[in-house]
Amino acid sequence: MPAILIDGHRQEKTLKLSTIPNWLVKKFKYMKNIILFGPPGSGKGTQAKKLLERYNLLHISTGDMFRFELKNNTELGEKARRYMDRGELVPDEVTIAMLKARVDKAVDSEGIIFDGFPRTVNQAKALDDMLDSKDAPIRALLLLDVSDEERVERILLRGETSGREDDLDEGIIRNRIEVFNNETAPVFSYYRKKNLAHKVDGMGTVDEIFRRLCDVLENL
Ligand code: ADP
Repeated sequence: MPAILIDGHRQEKTLKLSTIPNWLVKKFKYMKNIILFGPPGSGKGTQAKKLLERYNLLHISTGDMFRFELKNNTELGEKARRYMDRGELVPDEVTIAMLKARVDKAVDSEGIIFDGFPRTVNQAKALDDMLDSKDAPIRALLLLDVSDEERVERILLRGETSGREDDLDEGIIRNRIEVFNNETAPVFSYYRKKNLAHKVDGMGTVDEIFRRLCDVLENL
């Protein structure tokens, strides 16, 4: 510290501020945090994988996280199991706590792709609070728009190879779609009101859909 201080307090403050590296300030401001949104079977997982190959983004999928917990027989997995088996939503407080712990650990990426979250307006509000406190808000929600029938077909097909039990039973699939229509669809309106929602045609080849998503992302 210099020997002569005109205003010791202010000087200390200036020093503290100047220790935050510029690149870090910039990084948070320009993070492209996006929500990949769509009903079950709309192709979120497939497209998320392709987006990660092209951009330096972190993929956070609550479905994958729950499946990991289930496989490892954790306490969290036990809590989630009965909901997942029925195609229902795991309660918000469980899901939000899990997601928050994951986001807090996310440091070194140019943004996050949220896949399968938020699934309720309550989750969306919690996510916005979380990201606002990091000065890195959601930049866009991208809805993959696919017809009902095409989606059920895609899921049944996936079930043949994925080994996911919730993909093999048409009753459970229909229930997931109903839960989406009732509880999750309002998340789209929530972000539309904030002018952040984009609808992307989710029919066609994987590459065609991917190009449409990239177009939106690159123009953000
Ligand atoms: P889908 O392929 O049907 O979109 P996911 O892999 O995203 O499914 O999720 C599988 C299951 O995990 C859901 O049916 C639900 O039970 C649970 N789940 C995943 N994400 C959430 C969430 N954000 N809130 C509540 N439950 C969730």
